[in-house]
Amino acid sequence: MSKHIVILGAGYGGLLSALTVRKYMSKAEARVTVVNQYPTHQIITELHRLAAGSASEQAVAMPLAKLFAGKDIDLKIAKVNSFSVENKQVILSDGVMLTYDALVVGLGSTTAYFGIPGLEEYSMVLKSAADALKIHAHIEDRIRAYSKSGNAADATILIGGGGLTGVELVGEIADILPKLTKQYGVNPAEIQLLLVEAGPKILPVLPDPLIERATASLEKRGVQFLTGLPVTNVAGNTIDLKDGRQIVANTFVWTGGVQGNPLVGESGLEVNRGRATVNEFLQSTSHENVFVAGDSAVVFAPDGRPYPPTAQIAWQMGELIGYNLFSYLTKSAPASFNPVNSGTLASLGRKDGVAIIGGNNTPLKGLPATLMKEASNIRYLTHIHGLFSLAY
Ligand code: NAD
Repeated sequence: MSKHIVILGAGYGGLLSALTVRKYMSKAEARVTVVNQYPTHQIITELHRLAAGSASEQAVAMPLAKLFAGKDIDLKIAKVNSFSVENKQVILSDGVMLTYDALVVGLGSTTAYFGIPGLEEYSMVLKSAADALKIHAHIEDRIRAYSKSGNAADATILIGGGGLTGVELVGEIADILPKLTKQYGVNPAEIQLLLVEAGPKILPVLPDPLIERATASLEKRGVQFLTGLPVTNVAGNTIDLKDGRQIVANTFVWTGGVQGNPLVGESGLEVNRGRATVNEFLQSTSHENVFVAGDSAVVFAPDGRPYPPTAQIAWQMGELIGYNLFSYLTKSAPASFNPVNSGTLASLGRKDGVAIIGGNNTPLKGLPATLMKEASNIRYLTHIHGLFSLAY
């Protein structure tokens, strides 16, 4: 009898689970339903470009209906309100209830605010195409306002968090400011582009020479770094730092970290700090009919440390889950998760980048790093038959 597979989320993990299971199971063997809050699959590794206006929405948000065309996948555009692994039920925002034989949870992560007062209320984030478009419109709006008001807060852009998200975003903003300020007759030297980082250095995942290179490249384009200074409080447009300093910025984007999606913690799945624990087959350690992909799961590498919540890990998880859904439903042998780490690639605007690649962490900077980042995106798009997005 036909089984029902329900996949929550069409990010990297969910999309690849759905596409891969269809390689092994026909419609007669399994019905596949994918639930996603947006009608698009979003290339979140490129959102900083959309936020700065250096990429179009169509290039980073691809219609799921197109990616699933001819694959016999039922697509439901709705938010997941809750799911219960005890009752094998998923409740959607439109009131629909789904039941399943096997479930894939690929609901990603949410922004971590660490209980800092005012932070959630008064900051923007970069988690979706809609967020990116909002940031872009906001920055342009403030520069336009500054050209009339001369209010320094309108000319102050602050990024909170110096991980990959914050640094890639600040680099992209630095690149578009000359054109934007010219458009509104603003002196670019009057714009303050700041990045505040709690830790002693930005991009702590990279070796020191690459951090120095990234810092120098961005400072040359007007970025000011404030390191070793946690944000402690936010009230309206005033951001307090640990040393007592206050920054008054009418543009404040928070990229200070991610945490497990709360729905996972509330579902009845066994979790570790809000992320579901899984075995080597990416199956929940508490419920064998549930597989968990991407940032919703925590997977420990052979060295005992968790894999980072990255796109490359999420899509490899999705592929394995696609196969293991088939093995679970047909009672055949599952495959283990052995991801390939292609490295860490950070863009520093359109023309510069830093990276470590390959098993021995070869460092790259400048054009080779930029090209590797482009190549990595194209490789992914090829994989999901999404090259059409490059036309935009
Ligand atoms: P992150 O957790 O990696 O970085 C957040 C940064 O914010 C940290 O450096 C942290 O010290 C800082 N921070 C935390 N609290 C702070 C405070 N109160 N004040 C100031 N700074 C504070 O988060 P991210 O950059 O969003 O990355 C999330 C995941 O996504 C990571 O695994 C990352 O590797 C991945 N990612 C990868 C890429 C890429 O490969 N190019 C791009 C973006 C994100």
